[in-house]
Amino acid sequence: MTNVLGITTTVPVELAYAAGRAVVDLNNAFVADADPLGLVEMAERSGFPQGCCAWIKGIYGVAKRLGVREVIGVVQGDCSDGAALLEILESEGVRVHPFAYPHGRRREDLEREVGRLAESLGTTITAGETCKQELDAIRKLARAVDTRAWGHGDIQSAVLSESLLALTDFQGDPGACRHRLAAQVDALGVPDVSGAMPRIRLGIVGVPPILTDLWDVFEACGARFVFHEIPRQFALLDGIGLDLVSAYQRYTYPYDFGRRLDDICQAVASRQLAGLVHYVQTFCHRQIHDRLLRERVTIPILGIEGDRPGPVDARTRTRIEAFLEQIRRASGP
Ligand code: SF4
Repeated sequence: MTNVLGITTTVPVELAYAAGRAVVDLNNAFVADADPLGLVEMAERSGFPQGCCAWIKGIYGVAKRLGVREVIGVVQGDCSDGAALLEILESEGVRVHPFAYPHGRRREDLEREVGRLAESLGTTITAGETCKQELDAIRKLARAVDTRAWGHGDIQSAVLSESLLALTDFQGDPGACRHRLAAQVDALGVPDVSGAMPRIRLGIVGVPPILTDLWDVFEACGARFVFHEIPRQFALLDGIGLDLVSAYQRYTYPYDFGRRLDDICQAVASRQLAGLVHYVQTFCHRQIHDRLLRERVTIPILGIEGDRPGPVDARTRTRIEAFLEQIRRASGP
């Protein structure tokens, strides 16, 4: 693939587009692949250990399958497995543009990182700022979908998740992405909830689930996710209208968990959530945050762990049903 630049997590994508690249979020490409499990197994045959997060192996597998020759690599603020993955890709001839979310989120440190990345990609911050204004117009469309989802509850969990995750890379073509989202917003029409079955309003926090039918299982049990914490952060909706550095400083995911908690608690209240799902990935260090989440959030929380791409197993399905029953009982007849 020529001119394609892979990303392994959310980065200042404006700089990549300003530099004339077509961006592919390798996470999205991994789960959209016809055989995501095959990509994980391909990575294992290439020497990735069993005890390593499947997202990392899937990203590696899809980067090989797509023949990606250039990536932006987050060396701080994402995860240590991700940093090791970059070393592997670099050893195989992939060009890596390093980027770090500075610990403590100091503006001058982030400014330096954004400047370094712009230079490495062969563009400027000024060009990135112009590009950001264009991408913000698309983010406003995603914000309209998000607002409609929690305001009226008439957007399916999977649709909301996909609409937000599309903005990590703008699907490689911001113009086409804008058209798709604009059509989606046009099609929303006037909310009609007459006769609709009241659904349990949920939020999901943590890294995006690797389980292929998680949304369907919840929807089939009468629940709906109206808050997708991390996809919403990936879409940078809170950074609309801000300059590049301010927007990526406000982005919560790569920094301390405290700011994420503030964002989550705000959503619990404003979106009137009845429960939260904390999705964690097997072998991921972010699992440790579960304790901090439970210390601060007072609504019911269900922890779900996923390992490899595939459907929800029977035990997890039973736990989901019991969790929703508990919420139903607590909310009365
Ligand atoms: S799930 Fe955790 S370990 Fe896996 S890539 Fe994401 S942050 Fe890293």
